[in-house]
Amino acid sequence: MADYGHPVRFGISIDPGAADFASALSLARQADRSGLDYLAVQDHPYQPGYLDVWTMLTYLIAQTGRISVVPDVIDLQLRPPAIVAKAAASLATMAGGRIQLGVGGGASAQGVAAMGGLPRRGDDMVAFTDEAIQIIRQALRGEVIQLSTPQHRIAGYQAGPVPPRPVGVWVGSQKPKMLAVTGRASDGWVCPLNIYVAPDEVPGRQAAIDEAARGAGRDPREVRRVYNVSGVIGPYMGGRGLVGTVDHWVSTLTEWAAGLGFDTFIFWPATDPPRPAPDLRVRGDPRRAHAGRQAARRGMTGLPLPGILRNRVVRPGDRRYEVLRSTYTTIASPAIILLPENADEVAAALTAARGSGLPISVRSGGHGLSGRSSNDGGIVIDLSAMRTVDIVDADARVVRVEAGARWAGVAAALAPRGWAISSGDHGNVGVGGLATAGGIGWLARSYGLTIDHIRAVEFVLADGTRVRADPDHEPELFWAARGAGDSAGIALAFEIEAAPIRNIGIAQIVVEADRGWRHDPPMVGAHGAGRAGTDNHRHPLPGRGQLRRAVHRRGRR
Ligand SMILES: Cc1cc2nc3c(=O)[nH]c(=O)nc-3n(C[C@H](O)[C@H](O)[C@H](O)COP(=O)(O)OP(=O)(O)OC[C@H]3O[C@@H](n4cnc5c(N)ncnc54)[C@H](O)[C@@H]3O)c2cc1C
Repeated sequence: MADYGHPVRFGISIDPGAADFASALSLARQADRSGLDYLAVQDHPYQPGYLDVWTMLTYLIAQTGRISVVPDVIDLQLRPPAIVAKAAASLATMAGGRIQLGVGGGASAQGVAAMGGLPRRGDDMVAFTDEAIQIIRQALRGEVIQLSTPQHRIAGYQAGPVPPRPVGVWVGSQKPKMLAVTGRASDGWVCPLNIYVAPDEVPGRQAAIDEAARGAGRDPREVRRVYNVSGVIGPYMGGRGLVGTVDHWVSTLTEWAAGLGFDTFIFWPATDPPRPAPDLRVRGDPRRAHAGRQAARRGMTGLPLPGILRNRVVRPGDRRYEVLRSTYTTIASPAIILLPENADEVAAALTAARGSGLPISVRSGGHGLSGRSSNDGGIVIDLSAMRTVDIVDADARVVRVEAGARWAGVAAALAPRGWAISSGDHGNVGVGGLATAGGIGWLARSYGLTIDHIRAVEFVLADGTRVRADPDHEPELFWAARGAGDSAGIALAFEIEAAPIRNIGIAQIVVEADRGWRHDPPMVGAHGAGRAGTDNHRHPLPGRGQLRRAVHRRGRR
């Protein structure tokens, strides 16, 4: 149990995409009416498709009645801290204190440099951010600030106005040194999205913050704990984040409040908002319509894309960009993400990407530990739309699995036949990355690696040609595919021989460290090798009251 004694608060992330601000504003107004506490806006000003965070927050404040706003989080490397404090104090003064200030050391050094900022990394970044936070806090108290360090030169600034209510300075951080700064000097910790910092990684980070707070003579309860939560309230359709019914959300957030110590949750919807109706005036003029189509085919990069990829493009500013830009381990900012749905589209995407001269990443499940399935400023070819599992030969139990499937989906598709494929230990890992690398998991001792059971691999090679490699055709490529496959080309699909496996049991031994060793009775039951969705209904966004009551109620148990 971790309880820092703060009331539970809820907020929603409002997308700063310029292309559809009307939807963002409508969602913000709905959140205000529904009783949520915060409108949070991310800050990536180097993305041409995004609005400026301060301008947007100011507009949202003016368009709503009671809800507070919070930059989530503002990039300090692009703004002098005294100006950040001035803007926050001004907004707080004009809007009755309806603001908290989320700040961070910057997400993309490349983006900072592109805008003329001085990108700082490592210890430099930590020292700069540490000082910047202190400057902001002093300025919000209306003090005179004078500082001359390698990072800041402030010659004597009389800060003001002092906000009518204290503006909390919340810090986005995830690595030890910045967590220490957060504990020492902030009013709140903004934990990155749950898809980047998973719940089981939170306790260690909370402990680091608590230790730093105590070391600075503070009570750890002075630091609020904010979790950015990406996901879908509705059935599992693939993708990452928290996905499930309202009940599932309530019980999960309850666990995260009562067990992990979070008091504030910011919801990042991982679905497309409703798109506005197409502009028929543009359709009416064929020349303008043609120009519009050409523009749509060019990504952020000016990349000329063939027509078959027209509806397969995600750019910065699109709602899905936030979910697709990064990998399980690495935050990234690609210029464009392509989501082909078949082999021809993969070949077209690869040809267009090669022609651009930009970095290219190939992604299946995005769980690669190296983070190479995304990049900064380049092109990502994401195969997640290609996830079909077909039976090729029922007698020989040979199945064809597309690379974008996840192992949970494969397990769910094969379970009714009593078949399974030796893969990993985590249902969200993608087929493409694991089956081209090795694949070692729960079944490895009895059934070997995933690559031991591959009978053929379909590739798109670097020059765009398609090849099926098996022991008789392209045997060397087939050999390379099973272990070094991501160096051979883009694997589209694998033919794999499944094993007949039924009645799997799973046992768990629980040890309570404070009471000495003891064995709980093992839990035995049917085991699906991963997670499969069973819900059939989409659920509306639960109101703040509903969530808060439920979280409080369950948290007390
Ligand atoms: C939580 C977690 C649990 C894990 N558990 C296991 C485990 O139990 N057993 C195990 O063996 N591994 C495990 N791994 C490691 C994982 O299998 C590898 O990192 C694997 O490469 C991830 O595959 P992916 O498709 O999800 O990754 P991605 O990030 O999409 O890709 C990983 C790499 O493969 C390349 N690649 C992806 N798709 C293709 C394709 N279709 N064609 C060519 N290249 C491609 C990418 O470019 C990248 O270099 C785990 C990883 C995580 C994060």
